[in-house]
Amino acid sequence: MTIQDPIVVVGAGLMGTGIAHGFVASGHAVTLVDTQAPALERARAAIGKILSDGVRLGKATEADASAALARLQVATSLSGAPHNTQLVVETATEKLDIKQAIVREAEALFGADSVIATNTSALSITEIAAAIKTPQRVIGMHFFNPVHKMKLVEIVRGLETSTEVVHRVQTWVAAIGKTSIEVNESPGFTTSRISALLGNEAMYMLAEGVAKAEDIDTSLRMAFNHPMGPLELGDLTGWDTRLAVLQYLHQTLGEKFRPCPLIIKLVKAGRHGRKTGRGIYEYDDQGQKVPNSGIRPF
Ligand code: NAD
Repeated sequence: MTIQDPIVVVGAGLMGTGIAHGFVASGHAVTLVDTQAPALERARAAIGKILSDGVRLGKATEADASAALARLQVATSLSGAPHNTQLVVETATEKLDIKQAIVREAEALFGADSVIATNTSALSITEIAAAIKTPQRVIGMHFFNPVHKMKLVEIVRGLETSTEVVHRVQTWVAAIGKTSIEVNESPGFTTSRISALLGNEAMYMLAEGVAKAEDIDTSLRMAFNHPMGPLELGDLTGWDTRLAVLQYLHQTLGEKFRPCPLIIKLVKAGRHGRKTGRGIYEYDDQGQKVPNSGIRPF
């Protein structure tokens, strides 16, 4: 396999790990950057595990997996990344000031022909891009969790994003075996907007006593072939995150996104979902859902 364009991924959390894996597995040299050294070590171990699981499942040879891992470099600052990089994917903590600081530094370090992409779930690409003098090279590249299993990348055009940059990003997405769609920047893009609305409506139904939690989830799984019900999905995403997205969509898109009061109550109770062991459902020490544990809100 020939070595493709060097890629820089900034942020070695849940998403950065998956994105870096996607690029090393498709032949790119990747520098993964995080201010926290332990996050880089966790990411390297997690990428090694995804690659060795691939070998076990017959998807790659051991030689391919070790070559892919050898293409991964890590650094605790952007200045440690190769200056001839063609693509920087920013996937640090979801805060505007952090993302703007990263794009400013990337603009100063990397050539004017490099693309600066952000994996933000909901922030404005235009506003992130406004922090630099070359906003035409900033674009949204919205991956999904878990990255190595989810096929879609939403490519989000900010106001100033150039068409050439859109085309280059489409090529990179195809090269890592994923499908892209193109979206003009709008709150929640397509995916977060639909998912937030569906999850909110499911919560209103639960709060109104239309059906119990397990039956609402079963209806979406069995009637519409969704892989997970909307309440199970909220437990996976985290109700604190879901509430923040709904509040942003309510503020930007209006009344239909008003967060269901039951979500606010869940968050106040600390029932954030799988990550706190309890959300709509309860989870045991192995992270397995406890049968019939769906909350009865009244
Ligand atoms: P995370 O908390 O797991 O990881 C964020 C990482 O960024 C941390 O390791 C942190 O140390 C690092 N970081 C913070 N500031 C930094 C800086 N200045 N330079 C370098 N690294 C820095 O978060 P995550 O779930 O991986 O989310 C990352 C981004 O992806 C966010 O914008 C989020 O909205 C988006 N996103 C998340 C999901 C999801 O399901 N979690 C899905 C799609 C998009």
